Parts: sequence; structure tokens; C-alpha cells
Amino acid sequence: MDPVTKALDELHRRISGLKGGEVASYIPKLAQADPEDFGIAITSMGGRRYQAGKADTEFTIQSVSKPFVYALALTDLGPDEMLRRVGAEPSGEAFNAISLEPGTGRPANPMVNAGAIATTALVSAADPEARSARILDCLSAFAGRRLGYDEEVYASEVATGDRNRALAYLMRAAGSLSEDPYAVTATYFRQCSVLVTAADLAVMAATLGNGGRNPVTGERVVERSVAVRTLAVMATCGMYDGAGEWLLSVGLPAKSGVSGGLIAVGPGRFGVAVYSPPLDAAGNSVRGVAALTAMSERLALHLMHVPVHLTATVTDTGHGARSSRARSPEESALLNASSRRIVVVGAQGELEFTETEQLLGAVEGAVPEPPGWLVLDLMAVTGIRPGSAAMLAAGLADVARRGHRIVVAAQEPFLAGVGGYSGWRAFAGRDDAVAWCEDQLLAGELPVGPPAAEGGSGPSAGAGCGP
Ligand code: GLN
Repeated sequence: MDPVTKALDELHRRISGLKGGEVASYIPKLAQADPEDFGIAITSMGGRRYQAGKADTEFTIQSVSKPFVYALALTDLGPDEMLRRVGAEPSGEAFNAISLEPGTGRPANPMVNAGAIATTALVSAADPEARSARILDCLSAFAGRRLGYDEEVYASEVATGDRNRALAYLMRAAGSLSEDPYAVTATYFRQCSVLVTAADLAVMAATLGNGGRNPVTGERVVERSVAVRTLAVMATCGMYDGAGEWLLSVGLPAKSGVSGGLIAVGPGRFGVAVYSPPLDAAGNSVRGVAALTAMSERLALHLMHVPVHLTATVTDTGHGARSSRARSPEESALLNASSRRIVVVGAQGELEFTETEQLLGAVEGAVPEPPGWLVLDLMAVTGIRPGSAAMLAAGLADVARRGHRIVVAAQEPFLAGVGGYSGWRAFAGRDDAVAWCEDQLLAGELPVGPPAAEGGSGPSAGAGCGP
């Protein structure tokens, strides 16, 4: 058994014994759910899937549909119009509260029922059938398989959904809902009656965590900016009146539903889902909350957790490096005598702000006096963010202005990423880079004072952000 499944199994076993909570009964059909049903599933960013317990048992998605339908409406409307129609403030109230802004009637956020009904109404479609079809298509794309409905739960909610209809009529009266309240709540009940498994929900959550691209099917379901906004709303409003406490203890964007489904997203890491019908007072799955709390603690998943740098960014810094080129005894003597003029700084891993700042600090501490050659060995750097590339270029341009020659050894993809900054001479390996500096030194091309622009890829003064 692989280690992830083993950990899930162990967690499942430990939390199975947890009693307490009530199966939702206000939708009569939901009351028939088995309180013992309990499944956990995880999907990684690589699209690998893990599960324990009843992760293939189908249940209705209910409110866990809300973030996905929000993502669909957000795609249709764009961020400004979406925010104008549905707010993004945590209401701190129960899922079915009348959380409407005084005056405008704008619902507080899309994760409570009022906002979710308004959001469903905003999905562009010619008529309610077409709207339901688009929603089902969207949920299916998130799940990576064709989903269907539980007609009995749908009928049961239509028969008893007066409170949701009342919310819709209130919004209509306040002017914040333009569609027919009866039809729109029916569409909303349809969306809530979509059948999923915990394994499906994990893929859906992972798609949001993967910037909107389904990691299992590879399909781009929504734009990255839409996924980011959806996760933000989940983080602040996804757990109803338990949202604040959830962010304290678990610290992940999440969404729960009355049938006992619960999803959480580790952005860029994984999607996780739990199914267990008994709910706490805030309407969140008791075992779901316990499982996610334990998982977050054990794996340090809390978003506010300061990442621990397991590997150093700067691998080595120093002078006296020599290339493998054959040199005559005289050349060797000259190189040895000037060994302080060639300095190498090596780095590895991903360069984000913190790492780039560290690297530039190491460069400052290493540059030779009088000016010489700075060889930056970035062969083991795996990537750099655009902001960090600009920061690195500006820092190196400053070093170049003080008369140093900058020589970079890096892989093609890295050079392509920072291709806009040509204030340095690039090589495909440390040895070639050092050899070039040696050749320059032996040829007497000492970098004294700010260098004249050499054209092409040679070092040039003020090589900040220009091409
Ligand atoms: N269909 C349910 C309702 O609107 C969904 C609520 C929920 O899952 N919290 O009442």
C-alpha cells in the first residue's frame, strides 16, 4: 500500500469511531442517509488519486456545488459585475440566513443560500433547462466524468424548499434577482441534487487548487484568476458561521454541504474531500471537520504556516575556482595570482522573493575588490517568478554598474524565463563560464571600472529591465 493511502486509511480508522452530530432532515430524503457512511479522498496536482473508506458512495452534492457554480458565473460575468451582484463578505450566519445588504438586497456572499441562488441565476442561459445543463456540464468538467442527478432528492427539496424560495422572492423584491424566483430555486435545487462521490469531489477540489485545470483529465475548466477568486471566497465564507474558526484551526479554503460532503483545497498541493452525513451545529460534517483538522495539523497545511526552507538557496560562494581547461604553467601562475578576481556564487531550487533576496545578499558579500568576474551558477535553479527575475536583473545590473562582469551559467528554460534581461553573458555550464572568465583574465581584459557596453549578450552598464 502506498504511503498516502496508508495515511488516509489510518486517519479514516481513527475518526470512524467519532460519534455526534445529526444527519440533516429538513430535506426529508436526506434524513435517510446512513450516519455510518464515511469516505475520504485526495487528488494530487499530478492527478494521482487516493482514497479510504466509502469514497465511491454517491450522495447529493448540495452546497458543495456553490463554489463551482460561482466559478461558472464569474467566468460569464467577469469579476467586477460578479461582485456588484453578489458580495464577498463572510456573513457569519447560518447557510439559510437572510443575509442581504440593507438597501440594495445584494446577498452577502455566494456560499450562503441567498448568494448561491443569486449566483445560479447569473449563469448565462436562454432558459432554466439550458442553465441546468450548463451547470451540470461545468460540475462534470470539474469532476472529470459525466455526473447525473438524484431525482428523489430533487423532488424532496422542491416539495419542501419554501425557505429558499422565500429568500429568492425577497431578493426579487429588493431588486437583486432579476429571474423568476420559483424557476431559479428549481435550478438551484437541481444543482444541489447532482450525485457525486468523495472521490469526485477530491478531483473537483484539486481542479480549483490546480489553477482551474483538472489534474486528472488535463482539461482547463476555468481560468486561473477565476480559480483564485473562488478559493478566496471559500476561505472566508465556505464554512458558514464556522468559517472563522475553520480558518483558525484548519486554514484551508473549504466548502461543506448538508448531505455531509466537505471539500478543502491546498492550493498548488491537493484537493481533499470527506463524506460523512452527521453535521455539527453550523451544518458542517462532524467527521469531515475532524479529519481535515487532523490532516492540517499533521501535514502543516495551514495557509498561514510559514514555509520551512528545507534546502538552502545558495549552495556555494567563493573565489579561486578553476575551469578544466588545460593551461600552461605561466597561465596557471597568472590565474592563481589573480584568483580573487573570479568569484562563483551557486544557487539551486525555485527563486521566489525570499530566495532571490538571499541570492542577491550572497552576491553582495562575494563580489571581489577590485572589480572582477562574478560567475552566477544557476544550473540547479528550477524556476524563477517574473517578479523575482526583474529583481535579480536589477540587483545584477547594480553590481555591473560598479564595474563587475556578470557571467551566468543556467539551463535554457531559465534563460528563456529571464530572456528580457541581457546584462550578462550566459553559458550552459559552470565550467564554460569560469573558462571564459579565465580567458578574459589571461588576455588582460580586466574589468576596471564600469565596463563599456559590449553589445549582444555581453555585460553592459545599467542592464536593468531593458531588452
Ligand atoms: N440544497 C440545500 C439548501 O439550499 C443546500 C444547503 C447546504 O448544503 N448547506 O437548503
